[in-house]
Amino acid sequence: MDISIVGSINIDLVYRVPYVVNNGETLHSASHSVHFGGKGANQAVAASQLGANVHFIGKVGEDDFGGQAINNLKNKGVYIDSVQKEGATGQAIIQVTDAGDNAIVLFPGANFLVTPKQIEQEADIISSSKALLLQLEVPLDAVEKAVEIAAQHGIMVILNPAPSQKLSDSLLKNITFLTPNETELAQLTSIETRTEENIRSACSLLLDKGVGTVVVTLGSKGSFYMNREESGWVQALSVDPVDTTGAGDAFNGALAVGLCRGDSLRSSIEFATKVAAYVVTQMGAQPLIPDSILE
Ligand code: ATP
Repeated sequence: MDISIVGSINIDLVYRVPYVVNNGETLHSASHSVHFGGKGANQAVAASQLGANVHFIGKVGEDDFGGQAINNLKNKGVYIDSVQKEGATGQAIIQVTDAGDNAIVLFPGANFLVTPKQIEQEADIISSSKALLLQLEVPLDAVEKAVEIAAQHGIMVILNPAPSQKLSDSLLKNITFLTPNETELAQLTSIETRTEENIRSACSLLLDKGVGTVVVTLGSKGSFYMNREESGWVQALSVDPVDTTGAGDAFNGALAVGLCRGDSLRSSIEFATKVAAYVVTQMGAQPLIPDSILE
């Protein structure tokens, strides 16, 4: 079960503050923590823990953070031979207030140095995988190149279109599974997604552009899936959330594993739902997932 991931690797620097700092102000932070992050890395760690052989294609910086981020992936069983080093590692500087609000400065750093040329160098890894999983935190031309290679070899492509940006029809037609959240679905289609009818219309529009299946995640409301043959809802599990960061990433990593195992679409989504529900009960975006989830 080989999955290649083209995506981002970040270090998240989290500062607890009484309120979000104002212009010109120096604000003291009561506590500070460092987490491994980046949508690509989060999804890779989830898929690897769930039994996939994950090959990561991306970039970290030549700094200490880069070494730490690579070691983290390696320790979680992810193959890192295709992670290159250049520039400075991507960082998210996150202020979290006591009221639970947050403000984030995202420095993409080395993630934005991933190029189509780097992807071309890894064409063999992509073409020998069962699936290619991607997000949009690396440049779009690199994403497009990876999808093009996968399509040429008939490889399943799962694209989590986050953060949202405009996608060309030539990219969409090669996406086997597109997994936007509610907001991303609205931005991709310019259709409001408040009602089921609107969600269905937005999914139809994407199917008309050649997407194989759309899986829309809606936080605690669960998810909705639609392709030419079937559609339906999968309810989220009822849990007491501790930290919802990375719920979508765990969902995508697990969905890829389910689909690669050959499970049906609905079973794969139910599996992803179970994994994501566990992740929201834990701190951080890359928690240890217990083996019992696999049972
Ligand atoms: P993020 O960007 O924070 O990773 P996202 O917006 O991509 O998240 P969501 O739609 O919030 O993704 O969540 C993905 C899935 O995780 C949902 O479809 C659901 O199955 C599960 N999930 C999210 N929040 C909760 C919750 N509070 N309780 C139970 N399950 C949840």
